[in-house]
Amino acid sequence: MTRRLCLILALLASATCLADVAFATDTIVINAKVITVDAAHPAAQAFAIDNGRFTAVGTNAEILKLKTASTKVIDLKGMTVTPGFNDAHLHPQAIFDENSPYYRVWLGSDRVKTMDDLVAALQRKAAITPAGKAINGYGYNDVTLGRHPNRHDLDKVSTTQPVSITHGSGHITVVNSFMLNAAGVTKETPDPPGGALDRDPDGTPNGVLRESGRGVLGRGRREQQAAASGEKAATSDQPAAGRGEGRGQRADAGDGRGAASNDRMSIPHDDEIKGYLNCFRQYSARGITSVGIAGGSPSSFRLMQELRDQGNPVRVGFMFSVGSFDDLQAAGIQRGFGDDRLRISSLKNFQGNSLSGRTAWLSQAYSDRPDYFGIPPARTQEKLDEDVQKWWDAGWQVATHSNGDREIDMMLTAIERAAAKNPRPEARWRIEHASVMNQALLDRAKKDGVILVFHSYMWEYGNILASYGPERLSMMHAYRTAIDMGIHVAGHSDSPISAADPLLRVQDMVTRKSSDGVARGVNQRISVDEAIKVWTLDGAYATFEENLKGSIAAGKLADFVVLQKDPRAVPPDTIKDIVLEATYLGGQKVYTAPEKAVAMIPQPPINYGDGNYGDGDEEENENGTN
Ligand SMILES: [Zn+2]
Repeated sequence: MTRRLCLILALLASATCLADVAFATDTIVINAKVITVDAAHPAAQAFAIDNGRFTAVGTNAEILKLKTASTKVIDLKGMTVTPGFNDAHLHPQAIFDENSPYYRVWLGSDRVKTMDDLVAALQRKAAITPAGKAINGYGYNDVTLGRHPNRHDLDKVSTTQPVSITHGSGHITVVNSFMLNAAGVTKETPDPPGGALDRDPDGTPNGVLRESGRGVLGRGRREQQAAASGEKAATSDQPAAGRGEGRGQRADAGDGRGAASNDRMSIPHDDEIKGYLNCFRQYSARGITSVGIAGGSPSSFRLMQELRDQGNPVRVGFMFSVGSFDDLQAAGIQRGFGDDRLRISSLKNFQGNSLSGRTAWLSQAYSDRPDYFGIPPARTQEKLDEDVQKWWDAGWQVATHSNGDREIDMMLTAIERAAAKNPRPEARWRIEHASVMNQALLDRAKKDGVILVFHSYMWEYGNILASYGPERLSMMHAYRTAIDMGIHVAGHSDSPISAADPLLRVQDMVTRKSSDGVARGVNQRISVDEAIKVWTLDGAYATFEENLKGSIAAGKLADFVVLQKDPRAVPPDTIKDIVLEATYLGGQKVYTAPEKAVAMIPQPPINYGDGNYGDGDEEENENGTN
């Protein structure tokens, strides 16, 4: 029997009549506690695989009947199996170890608890950084530190080299005096549209640059370059820095990270490929079999093709930044182009700012600052409507970063206006993060058929999110309400913003607890089964691939994860500690736990490289997170 015929039969077969059909079967898995995420058959003991796809799911007895002389039998001895996890939105980065010149210093709460820790960690890096090269760090938590670091802190690291660090949100950059001076930033430098500069009491920028505020660095450099070449300088009507729009090159192009960008250690191509493969292997080690790359350029897409050809163990859905829209249209490329290992899934857009960076634009003031509503998006509703109509009419799915309720309102309004002019039955537009929600916005999302790709990062950022107040927390990452309403949702880590660790993220959705043990917005808790579905089948739906993957069912790609314990049977606070035994992609084992494996990889799981957030599209990714 041909494999194709087998597959057709498998698709037709139900679990009960399997025994009557003769399959080719290269692998069978037995004695497992299978969480199938298939509503028709939620539980099973065993399944069969052929040619990379599940061909049958059922009891041990049913599946053992499919065994032939050449079939490999995997006896899981009671371990739990789930579909491979799908991290619907993240930003991969090349990973290097701490001694590598390309290593960028991790400043997250788990390692850096005080300002002295932060300065010391950067000083260690400065000691091994060549003269003239930049010293970069990322991931600091201002609540843990008691305040944001500023140029005075970073001047203790160096006054003769660029020093640049980013907040955990990726939306706030802090630089030293050397960088401000090199960019010509003074007391007179105004806040750019869509951004803000924190200032010393005398009005001099103190190095904390919020959202497009980092654009002042690039602007200074552009002016210097223009002066040197005798051309007229680019002016402040540049698009807000860091929006990832109009970006098509991986090389720095005035993205507002000027001085540091110029002086960054450049990574040889082979090292970069190795660094990215390290990153995807880390994802695989946490059970991730599919990811959505949330924004990238043609050159980063080319890099992903190279990684695929070198055996990337994770399937990639690629979102092109909206700046590539015209090029994609000209080339006749549409959503869905690609293959099971690398597919163009959508366009990535921004309409808004950061939740954990507390720049999201809100209708009610931040609880601890009665005069502060966040930073308004630079793009007006009128311009947004125009852009959205263009992408909508061209048939794309668009995934838009919006956190604040006012940002989400603008985006839904634009979608509703586009749909009114040109109805599309299955547009499946996505709002990424969709953090500060309310019932009226949820009602509209449901009516508009919008997918909400919520965060689940109380573990890392609960202490910051507390400042949104209990009322907003009760509708933040509103999984319970959205699922009950029948709204499509999906899960994501936004890595490196939160750990690309699905078990930790599931625990977060189930407990809503931060690492200090405090639970917030507990009315939005969901069950383990629901959380697993969010991170598997729902992620597949978000890329139009729910018939291809995301559950353990005949005909689907044989991506699955083996867990030493059932996450439904352990105390919820220990879901993250379950040892992941193995990850399979298309029926092939791509990760095996080392002997005596410890459970959770420390947060962050990995050390990141040179300062690019993700796929090499620095601008997109610097602001394109969280
Ligand atoms: Zn992101």
